[in-house]
Amino acid sequence: MTLSHGRPYLAIPGPSVIPDRVLAAMHRPSPNIYEGPLHDMTATILADLRRVACTAGHVAIYITNGHGAWEAANTNLFSRGDRALVLVTGLFGTSWANSVQRLGVEVEVLDFGKRVRADAGRITEALRADKEGRIKAVLLTQTDTASTVRNDVAEVRAAIDSAGHPALLAVDCIASLGCDPFRMDDWGVDVMVAASQKGLMVPPGLGFVWFSDKALRVCKGADLRTPYWDWEARAFAQEYWQYFCGTAPTHHLFGLRESLTMLLDEEGLSQAWARHERLAQTVWAAVDAWGQSGDIALNVERPTERGWSVTSLRVGGGGAGQLRRWCEEKAGVTLGIPLGMAEPGEAAYGDYLRIGHMGHVNAHMVLGVLGVIEAGMQALGIAHGKGAVDAAAAVVAGA
Ligand SMILES: *Cc1c(COP(=O)(O)O)cnc(C)c1O
Repeated sequence: MTLSHGRPYLAIPGPSVIPDRVLAAMHRPSPNIYEGPLHDMTATILADLRRVACTAGHVAIYITNGHGAWEAANTNLFSRGDRALVLVTGLFGTSWANSVQRLGVEVEVLDFGKRVRADAGRITEALRADKEGRIKAVLLTQTDTASTVRNDVAEVRAAIDSAGHPALLAVDCIASLGCDPFRMDDWGVDVMVAASQKGLMVPPGLGFVWFSDKALRVCKGADLRTPYWDWEARAFAQEYWQYFCGTAPTHHLFGLRESLTMLLDEEGLSQAWARHERLAQTVWAAVDAWGQSGDIALNVERPTERGWSVTSLRVGGGGAGQLRRWCEEKAGVTLGIPLGMAEPGEAAYGDYLRIGHMGHVNAHMVLGVLGVIEAGMQALGIAHGKGAVDAAAAVVAGA
């Protein structure tokens, strides 16, 4: 017997839930790409992309996913032989390091493990040791979607400044934009990357790179630049086609227009941040209760170091893997696989799962997921503390 028939819920950290309104906005005939509404709308999207990043800087849109957005940032930032200091707090930090290294950039990794945020002291120390000033940029992932550690971006900027080092700061906000507070200009961020399919609630297919005047100046002669990724032509397009280096991502743009209206004009960015914070706390309260008796725990110990859009947790004895299967087959909820905590095939792979709570997600959806996990634990005989759904409801009730 299965109770999964009904609207399925993909509760993984991207692609996230797409609002029906975004889908409806995309459901239209192909528009004229040479003039007309698409052109007028693109200007409003560029303005709103600045609002969502809290910046007066520049933005380039690419037809790509997050990996492509990394490559866009990498190729504009660096020349061959430059050095990057990559701060790693999970698998996505490692992946960004690999993507820049493969381009011929020298990479120095500072690995902080998978349970705590990057430490300012070590960053300052590494930059002070760079006497020749070879480090061109520090690469930071705000929320590492694998470990679900959230870094303190302003603190990293302060660590760079206190070393008296000129390195640029580039931040991956793919998992956190629109979910966790991010203030590009106030925090002194030079480059930021994001993609459409997470907090922005649009299907995968758009990657974004924001950059400051300083980044534009410092990176002017970067020799990894290629025609497709070059951010200047896009951000300062003279002709409409230059925004996208070819055909515009027509339908994605209509979807994005709708989602930005929902996020910025209807809900409001600070309210969206507050919603994500409260829903994250709801998840954490349930996991803490389950962990009272049973091998169940949040991956990141300190609440201030946890992302608000996704939560990684341990359910030992292979319980996490069994739960993922049960929740999908019996209840129509798909939970996230572990990333970077163990390799597929290793026994520990079955001990971790992730719950995505990013974007178009509200209290009933999160309480539903937690109630389903609770049911799965009962059905599978996984030892767990009682009162998790009560504890989650109390957090929602206090909103
Ligand atoms: C999802 C994600 C990526 C990769 O995005 P893809 O679209 O899968 O290429 C990179 N960094 C972070 C932080 C992410 O959450």
